[in-house]
Amino acid sequence: MEKILVSACLLGAKVRYNGSDCAQHSSLLDQWLTEGRIITVCPEVAGGLATPRPPAEIRHGKVFTKQGKDVTTAFHKGAEKALTLIHQHHIKIALLKAKSPSCGNTEIYDGTFSDTKISGQGITAQLLIKHGIKVFNETQLNEVALFLAQLENKLS
Ligand code: SF4
Repeated sequence: MEKILVSACLLGAKVRYNGSDCAQHSSLLDQWLTEGRIITVCPEVAGGLATPRPPAEIRHGKVFTKQGKDVTTAFHKGAEKALTLIHQHHIKIALLKAKSPSCGNTEIYDGTFSDTKISGQGITAQLLIKHGIKVFNETQLNEVALFLAQLENKLS
């Protein structure tokens, strides 16, 4: 059975920078949980950052808090931990929180803390994509289901 790596905040873990979650209420997610397909990770917590923590954005490939502290190392450490889970569980699909500086798969904030989005990926999403993982966000649950079905049909 194919497993899916999922951002912990999408499943209700209160691990976002401000201590909140981003729980998704979806029958697909419920089904995948029941089937035991889901492995969760919060890369920022796995990288050693506290919750709550200052908001951070990517600028010129590095990650800075709003106060200007360079937290790039922790973000990379968290991404490596996510990749370790991917390898441990032979995962090919990730469902990560949109627009996060760790998890965003198509868009991120531009590093100016002015609520401006640009095309790009968070640090964990970048690493997983580089390793051939198909990365989706919470607005793409149907695409995840389709990709999962294609993978499992290929295997059967
Ligand atoms: S790092 Fe990813 S999993 Fe953790 S709170 Fe941010 S978006 Fe959610």
